[in-house]
Amino acid sequence: MAAIIGCQAEVFPFRYLGLTVGANMNRVANWKPVYDIVDARLAKRKAVMLSMGGRITLIKSVLESLPTYYFSLYKAPVQGEVGNGVSIQSWIDPWSSDGPLSLRFPALFDLEMKKDCKIADRIVISGGISRFSWQWKRPLEAGQEVDEMIDLCRLLINFELKEEVDKWVWTGSVDNLFSVGSVKELLTKNIDSQGIYIPSRCRWIPRKCNVFMDALKKRNIDRGDQTCVLCGEVDETVEHLFTSCNIASTVWSIVSMWCKIPMIWAFSVRDLLESHENIDLKGKKKQVIQGIIRIGCWSIWKARNESRFNNNPVKLEVIIREIKSVGFLWLNSRSKDSAVKWEEWCNFVNM
Ligand SMILES: [Zn+2]
Repeated sequence: MAAIIGCQAEVFPFRYLGLTVGANMNRVANWKPVYDIVDARLAKRKAVMLSMGGRITLIKSVLESLPTYYFSLYKAPVQGEVGNGVSIQSWIDPWSSDGPLSLRFPALFDLEMKKDCKIADRIVISGGISRFSWQWKRPLEAGQEVDEMIDLCRLLINFELKEEVDKWVWTGSVDNLFSVGSVKELLTKNIDSQGIYIPSRCRWIPRKCNVFMDALKKRNIDRGDQTCVLCGEVDETVEHLFTSCNIASTVWSIVSMWCKIPMIWAFSVRDLLESHENIDLKGKKKQVIQGIIRIGCWSIWKARNESRFNNNPVKLEVIIREIKSVGFLWLNSRSKDSAVKWEEWCNFVNM
């Protein structure tokens, strides 16, 4: 199979984001790489040269953030079951079937006054009926914000607070009962779907552009009742819109030519978001390509919305021009490295 699609077959365990994937973590030996990293951070010679404050910071970074990082990769499959809503966070905790609202509704989450508010904080009960009362930094604007609001209302239409306290339910086994066996099964079986695959973040593009793909995938635009506005040929799904649609594939071939890289072939959004990993590039150029692909998705999505909501026809050259200009702007304003000149950018040299 690997030979047919021109890939290299990897075997378990392999390393991804500094973590061993697919290794049996019950074996002490497999924790050695993690141990080594902690050990290296705590090296004596470094501590000697640090002030007391510096040492505290170091200990915090080692003892708090490293375990958080490693254990966050083995994401616990739990879901909040809302009772009185006083302990579950509205945006951050997963309590709806599609994960945290912050990922599914990124534009609204941006506008939330208190990001860690509890569900009960955003509910008013009048006449025995629970009603959501959101608190935004400013009124919603037409476009993505209103669009997300409509979806959010649809999602929460039958929501009611209850008398009992909030609960956390283990969703890692069929009967929702927590057991060591079900954790083991999950760790060895669900490598992809239960959180081991986390699309990497690209540092030089804004957060909104980074998270919007995750949010789109979680959001149900795959109703299949709308035709793709880019090509007008098939039903619109997230996968189609960004990969197989002929507008999208033309965008990717133009981007490939511009960046002087092999043609980007993607059969899924995941392929697309990982394609920079499969190109033989190093350092900055790799990160630049990673960002450009995301900006490409962002521009395709904007063109799709312009067409669907404002009846503006989709123009390939507009999408390409936007990728180049937005990319240039973000790279120069957000990247710490030396600035790239416009001509260099257009020829994709000196990255
Ligand atoms: Zn299409």
